[in-house]
Amino acid sequence: MSTLRFQALEALANGEEKKISGYSEKKITHMFASNVFTTRAQREYLSDEAYKSLSNSAKTGSKIERRLADQVAAGMKAWAEERGVTHFTHWFQPLTGTTAEKHDSFFTIKSDGSAIELFDGDALIQQEPDASSFPNGGIRATFEARGYTAWDPSSPAFIIEAGHGKTLCIPTIFIAYNGESLDNKAPLLKSIGALDKAAVDVCHYFDKNVSKVTATLGWEQEYFVIDEGLANARPDLVMCGRTLVGHAPAKGQQLEDHYFGSIPERVYAFMQDFEQESYKLGIPLRTRHNEVAPCQFECAPIFEEVNIAVDHNTLLMDVMAKVAKRHKLRVLLHEKPFAGVNGSGKHNNWSLATDTGVNLLSPGKTPRTNLMFLTFFVNTIKAVHDYDDLLRASIASANNDHRLGANEAPPAIMSVYIGKYLTEVLNEVETRVKEKFSEQDEVILKLDIHKQIPELLMDNTDRNRTSPFAFTGNKFEFRAVGSSANCAAPMTVLNTIMAETLKKFKIEVDALIEKGEKKEIAILQVLRSYISGSKRIRFEGDNYSDEWAAEAKERGLNNFKTTPAALDAYVSESAKELFYTNNIFSKVELEARHEIMLEDYVKRVQIEARILGYIATNHILPAAISYQNRLIENIKGLKEVGLPESSYKAQLNLVSVISKHIQSINDNVEAMIEARKSANNTDDMHKRAAMYCDNVKTYFDEIRYASDKLELIVEDKLWPLPKFRELLYIR
Ligand code: ADP
Ligand code: MG
Repeated sequence: MSTLRFQALEALANGEEKKISGYSEKKITHMFASNVFTTRAQREYLSDEAYKSLSNSAKTGSKIERRLADQVAAGMKAWAEERGVTHFTHWFQPLTGTTAEKHDSFFTIKSDGSAIELFDGDALIQQEPDASSFPNGGIRATFEARGYTAWDPSSPAFIIEAGHGKTLCIPTIFIAYNGESLDNKAPLLKSIGALDKAAVDVCHYFDKNVSKVTATLGWEQEYFVIDEGLANARPDLVMCGRTLVGHAPAKGQQLEDHYFGSIPERVYAFMQDFEQESYKLGIPLRTRHNEVAPCQFECAPIFEEVNIAVDHNTLLMDVMAKVAKRHKLRVLLHEKPFAGVNGSGKHNNWSLATDTGVNLLSPGKTPRTNLMFLTFFVNTIKAVHDYDDLLRASIASANNDHRLGANEAPPAIMSVYIGKYLTEVLNEVETRVKEKFSEQDEVILKLDIHKQIPELLMDNTDRNRTSPFAFTGNKFEFRAVGSSANCAAPMTVLNTIMAETLKKFKIEVDALIEKGEKKEIAILQVLRSYISGSKRIRFEGDNYSDEWAAEAKERGLNNFKTTPAALDAYVSESAKELFYTNNIFSKVELEARHEIMLEDYVKRVQIEARILGYIATNHILPAAISYQNRLIENIKGLKEVGLPESSYKAQLNLVSVISKHIQSINDNVEAMIEARKSANNTDDMHKRAAMYCDNVKTYFDEIRYASDKLELIVEDKLWPLPKFRELLYIR
């Protein structure tokens, strides 16, 4: 019987992969948000009163009266049923990194035995899924499996289609019985509120009309697409989403032909299909293109309010995986699916928008609006400076560890890039704003800033691709986020540290004003001190270079190379204070989250270690031994016919090289199992994570090294795992 590898290759060669129909010629505008309970649908299906209450709640977070919730539920149900929906689910984002749903039917039996379809305010507002199977970091003992999902009216309900089934999905938060959050959305919503308040207060120095500030997010999602049959022939891809062994292909990215090449037809059909599904869900996808590595691609939407943008990204990741199946493809969202080939990230473009239509991180046209821009710009830099460790922690994961600092993504050192023009502007503020300020200085300074900033917009080439946190014209781009991450974690941290920084800023400016300083001068004084105080976080050079790592160390910047080390920032005294005073996390919640993240890390490395051990023992070693036996047979034969040793020297040498690698794999797998056992014996999750990181993971490279050497030696026909060139170059 041929192995899965050859069956998959044969299927590919015969073009057995399904050709997909179902692609609609409709204009995007005709299908956009057709599966979303949009404000337009709300208007149509809700009474005036219910509609107003819902849109008010979406905007301000105000509570919806019980009576009106019943009306909203009824309207939602009518809208959904007209579209063939039979079930509903509370859709939430637990800390496991995926989404969760528990489908309930509208169908129910009344006390008199008759059947009706029912969906009322209770079912809309709150549900009680069996929470015991979601990670809670010890907040609830598992026997007390009570957790609630609660409706988030600020994100519209939508319909998921799967096969013939259609389900109404209600975006919800997921909280424990005592109100502690167990998901990604609840803290994000709180951080949005905290930032809104702090930013509006600061906006009032410049414009009293501002009554709301929203954080905006535009993510760029990178991913790989490979053939499903080939993926299924690799236990590591099936179980871990990445390859644990595999020699880099002879042709890698050197030619850089993929980035500019056209999109392969099969992938293109898949893209069109998932884009259409996304449009129906209101995800405003805008760009698609090849990425650097073979089989790697990217898509990006138009930016949105951060809560909606996070929901849309999570939804998109689900949709992509589902649609790929239809095309007999596999989407790999893992940060590093192939060693030696560029990994995937998810840039998070972040900015702040006022309800008066102003982007606070967009340089203005007048001195007054420029001062407002400078205020938010400098405060962001200061926030990153003061809490770089938290930003680093917010993107920490076992997967992302493979990417950060590997010369393909930003290093684990956080720094901010702002470009030449703004550097000059900040230098000017720093040097020219004096302790005592004359009217003369003020005029000059403002004009100078005004003249310089618009130039920046014209020069977009001045971008530094290596920076983890770069200003790109009218937004900051957080580039260290991993491709499989839920954006909520980094966005929650960014919103919170910004809120905290703006609050402190206001206190300092107000104090100066109270002393009799003119408002603008007071603002400039504080900005100047922030610019000086946060200088060391600014870096314009090559973030990938060794020189930067050395310089950063000299500057005293953090460089947490591994997830267990990086996550500690969440439970530092200053982090506890920050999250507590901004009402994002209680101290208990933080401890619990820290524990959950460590456990997640341990589990991922543990699974990889198991699968690697399994592949090495059950796939690699048997293949190597088979080939070695053939060589031995060959040597015996040559001997038998009376040839001298010189005629089978090469074979003898191969036999001994194979033995050496077999021995090495065997020894390292055994040692890895021992290391795992001893890590598992530690109850302290922090210690266990460190042990998995320092003692278990270290064997991965050793095992891989020997396995990859064998891959180069062993006869191709005997090798059971699809090779990189097959995974990455066959379409
Ligand atoms: P790149 O050159 O890095 O690919 P683009 O200029 O194409 O970047 O934009 C990338 C992302 O930035 C897009 O998803 C876009 O929606 C987002 N973006 C643009 N303006 C804003 C903003 N004000 N707030 C948040 N995201 C934004
Ligand atoms: Mg980008």
